[in-house]
Amino acid sequence: MITQGVKIATRCDACGGVLTRDIGQFIDRGRLWWGTEGACQSCTVAWCEQDSGSETPEEIRQALLSEHGPARLRLIGPETSPVAVLRALREVYGVTLTQAKALADELKTTGLVGTLVEMEFTAAQLRQRSVRAAVESSKPSSR
Ligand SMILES: [Zn+2]
Repeated sequence: MITQGVKIATRCDACGGVLTRDIGQFIDRGRLWWGTEGACQSCTVAWCEQDSGSETPEEIRQALLSEHGPARLRLIGPETSPVAVLRALREVYGVTLTQAKALADELKTTGLVGTLVEMEFTAAQLRQRSVRAAVESSKPSSR
């Protein structure tokens, strides 16, 4: 299973104690999922939330991107069917044809950028349509 997560320690709003948040994205049963869990070490504050769909909450995306850095998706191999690429992109991102064309241009030139799980998910959708694509993960931000 392709998965990426990050653990963040923050302050609990209820008691001021240390709250540990566990944030992640993963691919399961052909869908892109995101999840967030939190638990306070000092009081009873805790939650667990999980959902799937093309839209991962921006807060979760940013946490993953700042921890792991962005991944880049590129087309590989010989010229692929533009129609197949557009269909895959429209399905993954739920965008209009015009928007899909802009994404396809990006994919062909600089590559698409997103979280590792998002790019792996898009790559899988492309592969289902016989479009070969590869994900390059960039180095994590310096620390
Ligand atoms: Zn607390």
